[in-house]
Amino acid sequence: MKHPENNEEYKGLVVNKGIEQPDSVSPYLKNRPKRKRREFSVNEFVEGILKGDITILSQAVTLVESMKPEHQAIAQEVIEKCLPSSGNSIRIGISGVPGAGKSTSIDVFGLHVLDQGGKLAVLAIDPSSERSKGSILGDKTRMERLSIHPDSFIRPSPAAGSLGGVARKTRETIILCEAAGFNKIFVETVGVGQSETAVHSMVDFFLLIQLAGTGDELQGIKRGIMEMADGIVINKSDGSNIEKAKLAATQFRNALHLFPAPESGWTPQVLTYSGFYNLGVKEIWDMIYDYMDFVKENGYFQYRRNEQSKYWMYESINEQLKDSFYNNEKIQSLLQQKEQQVLNADLTSFVAAKSLLDTYFEELRK
Ligand code: GDP
Repeated sequence: MKHPENNEEYKGLVVNKGIEQPDSVSPYLKNRPKRKRREFSVNEFVEGILKGDITILSQAVTLVESMKPEHQAIAQEVIEKCLPSSGNSIRIGISGVPGAGKSTSIDVFGLHVLDQGGKLAVLAIDPSSERSKGSILGDKTRMERLSIHPDSFIRPSPAAGSLGGVARKTRETIILCEAAGFNKIFVETVGVGQSETAVHSMVDFFLLIQLAGTGDELQGIKRGIMEMADGIVINKSDGSNIEKAKLAATQFRNALHLFPAPESGWTPQVLTYSGFYNLGVKEIWDMIYDYMDFVKENGYFQYRRNEQSKYWMYESINEQLKDSFYNNEKIQSLLQQKEQQVLNADLTSFVAAKSLLDTYFEELRK
């Protein structure tokens, strides 16, 4: 090709003839194994966590969440070693339907508690496919200010799975976070069903975020969820919505009177606030701290934590028994057949279940 730069007047800009490129500079690069993250030993994990090293904490949480048995084995050892350094926190469950303002509120609540010092971890339980509806619980982008705060650790919900499995992982993550010095733990969940029970079984205070609506808001809430709440807060009490929020608060207070008195001896409070405009947030936290003083004094705080540990022991037994049964090869080969016999009315459900269980126990004895 003729290049004008090669004319005598542009001497310094001479374009050399190119050379043909080889296929690949080094065939070795193509086959080079992917660089692996350095794997820590159990002791390195524990030391890092106790020092408050966030990178190591994150990697340990990843192991907790992993389905791989070898990861689980390390995770369990790490958790066990962190257990003596855990427990020094207040754990708050925060629940509300999508759109109630959970992430806006957690952002503001988080900054409020961090103003008083300490460290905050925000975890989540989302066993449903809420993600597909665009509400990823514990998503950093939804908590803009908190996510860049140096003393916060935000972790989205473990990937969808059985509720028991997801909840267990979050509970184990709480232990690791506490060992890493996080003394405030928020556990976020969507206020639509079973996940409240799971969250309730791992927190000291259960906060239910509600909205004032059309006047029939009470109808939409499951009685069980309201009964679990230690505090109900009506969000978006701002602008023209203030009166409606106050009215809703009165309705909730009246409704709460109909429930039996909670075991804690604490009367659940109902407050209005605006997460967006940061109005009434201090009052919510004053209430939560009052509750903590109250239950620490009357012994309920420790009692509830003990009951929770007991609950999780039985939950783990149930989960492991079920896994062992359903993963048993013999059972897997018989399950469909028995199911069909029940459907054909050749066997009753009870007899089919009994025969499968008998087979399972025989297998165990082998
Ligand atoms: P989440 O789905 O429960 O996490 O709810 P978001 O925090 O994402 O809030 C849902 C919508 O409500 C967003 O558009 C927020 O800006 C709005 N919102 C949240 N808190 C308030 C509030 O206190 N007042 C008003 N007016 N809007 C709010």
